[in-house]
Amino acid sequence: LLMMRLDKYLADMGVGTRQEVKKRIRQGQVRVNDEIVRAPERKISDSDQVFCDGIQVSYVTHEYYMLNKPSGVVSATEDASCRTVIDLIADRKRKDLFPVGRLDKDTEGLLLITNDGELAHRLLSPKKHVDKVYYAKVSGIVSEEDKAAFLQGVNIGTKEKEEWTRPGELQILEVGEEVSTIRLTIREGKYHQVKRMFQAVGKEVLYLKRESMGTLTLDPLLTPGSYRALTEKEQKELG
Ligand code: URA
Repeated sequence: LLMMRLDKYLADMGVGTRQEVKKRIRQGQVRVNDEIVRAPERKISDSDQVFCDGIQVSYVTHEYYMLNKPSGVVSATEDASCRTVIDLIADRKRKDLFPVGRLDKDTEGLLLITNDGELAHRLLSPKKHVDKVYYAKVSGIVSEEDKAAFLQGVNIGTKEKEEWTRPGELQILEVGEEVSTIRLTIREGKYHQVKRMFQAVGKEVLYLKRESMGTLTLDPLLTPGSYRALTEKEQKELG
């Protein structure tokens, strides 16, 4: 399956930049099986074992992490001024990780971080209608009318330029004069969708957290800012 240049192998696994690993290879710091290899172009296959400074470097094609995104961090791979969700994955090996979908900077909760583009495509494709479940605190009294409106779909655009959502299922958890708590299940991911759905019924989202996406549910043991690798079972269920 695997057949790749030694320098790419090491660079992909974060040992250094392509130039840095070439240098280390030429300096004799890299061993393949029982032999010091000084040629960066040497082809590595699945049966080879690679060591750098005596430490084995195994190759990982795909990585999958579940992150509880904290507020204040952006869902991007790079940002000039702000910490990104990728920066939070300290154990990452691959340099090509990205978040599957986006959460607003002030939104918390489940974010899948991977470098598996095919999986991301399947989860984000509008045709697949993957359920996304959000927990929110909302200003004022969320009512049965709001529930009915969401079930119909609401206009999150303007009068002139309408933009209708598909049906969403609203569950009212607690109602207070000032703040209500709700759970909302939607199957799309329009820009600021949850916030704009509540705006459409005259309310403001004060706190927003994603709890699940398809079969993947946020591990309750993960505090905001922490993450873990997906289990085999979670990976399989995602398909
Ligand atoms: N809807 C929003 O408004 N914000 C998010 O971060 C996710 C869904």
